[in-house]
Amino acid sequence: MTDKTPRHPIAIIGAGIAGLSAAHTLEEAGIPTIVLERFDRAGGRLNTRQGGGWVADHGTSFITTRHTRVCDLIRTMGMETSRVAIQGSVRTLTSDLKIEIPENGGLDGSRFSLVDGFGFFMEELAGRFQVHYNMAVGAVRWDNNQKVFWWNSEGQVFWFEDEDGQPLRDPVTHKVIIASGVILATTGTASRRIIEKSPSLAGLLPEINKVDYTSTFTTMFKIPRIDVPWYALEGKSGAPFTWIALEERKSPARVPDDKSLIVAHASPSWSIDLIAMHRMDAMAQVYRKLREIIPQLPEEPLSQTYKRWNVSRVQSRPMVDPDDRPRINWPVNPPTAPFALAGDYVYGRTAEDAALSGHDAAQAIITQLPTRKSVLGIHFAE
Ligand SMILES: Cc1cc2nc3c(=O)[nH]c(=O)nc-3n(C[C@H](O)[C@H](O)[C@H](O)COP(=O)(O)OP(=O)(O)OC[C@H]3O[C@@H](n4cnc5c(N)ncnc54)[C@H](O)[C@@H]3O)c2cc1C
Repeated sequence: MTDKTPRHPIAIIGAGIAGLSAAHTLEEAGIPTIVLERFDRAGGRLNTRQGGGWVADHGTSFITTRHTRVCDLIRTMGMETSRVAIQGSVRTLTSDLKIEIPENGGLDGSRFSLVDGFGFFMEELAGRFQVHYNMAVGAVRWDNNQKVFWWNSEGQVFWFEDEDGQPLRDPVTHKVIIASGVILATTGTASRRIIEKSPSLAGLLPEINKVDYTSTFTTMFKIPRIDVPWYALEGKSGAPFTWIALEERKSPARVPDDKSLIVAHASPSWSIDLIAMHRMDAMAQVYRKLREIIPQLPEEPLSQTYKRWNVSRVQSRPMVDPDDRPRINWPVNPPTAPFALAGDYVYGRTAEDAALSGHDAAQAIITQLPTRKSVLGIHFAE
């Protein structure tokens, strides 16, 4: 027990990389956590799909060794050497559908993915924590005036409502879930919905209202094996795709020997049109465009699937200048409440930004928690 051990766990809303990074920092400090996740799996936009000998990342496609917080979390799970996929070259796709080879041949040794996919890493990471799945938080509640859950100097106690306004309960004990602090680690749009319904968080509305995301229509095509001299194409501004990857280049085990698996992310502007279309027409349009870029593609894919990310990447300025990290002071009521925001909208647009924000949110909570020795007048030794 640390001198900051709270009476109740710290609740983290959202089991994406921001939320699990926060849980990890709190765990290292010996502070108990509980994670409330809307869906039946962890990972958020670190998402991997799998089935019948095929594995593909359908959200985040790569990270780099400069993403030190994510790399630390990967190391924590013992994945440093055994499950890191080495990739080939990343070429550039121009707006007129030409493939440019950068001076270094497009080789970027710092990029990598995980052999099993980022989604499975996240599920393993989530396995370390107490995560309640299928728990969509509608609002965060705490009562500043009546102090109904106030115990001496222990500070605020929080509880949560679902989207119908009912208190969230532990699925086993059926007791109302209460927490000594909260980290709101959902997407910016989900955070906005929660903040709108949580009067004590009204001070955050002006900033959260500025958060804006792009959409991505992501497709996956299975085809007979093709041989192209790159691992991935990164789209230049104006190109129809932001990213096209050959999954078997991440790890041969992702695909049967005689097949290839192409994951293609449409550009934000094209994605808006594709998302509005019927999914079959949208996938057909994407495949036609891919054939213009990769002539080796057969007339028809063996099979295809898609995913709509209505909230994919942050488009607005981050809420906090990343140079200001980790000095976050969220204007909640009261300002001393152990409450923090995390997610990619806080510092920037990558998984690393999200992971850093989770770490800093956890540190902010630790600072806000009253020290144990002042609790209930009991003195604990230093
Ligand atoms: C197609 C695509 C490609 C990308 N490529 C890359 C890349 O190559 N490299 C890179 O670094 N980044 C990439 N990104 C961005 C990266 O994935 C995100 O920045 C990062 O995953 C964000 O993590 P997060 O924890 O902030 O949010 P999320 O991953 O969105 O996690 C939020 C979690 O909160 C949960 N949640 C939402 N609402 C509620 C609620 N009401 N109650 C409880 N839980 C809730 C969600 O279900 C989710 O699990 C990509 C994103 C997309 C979509």
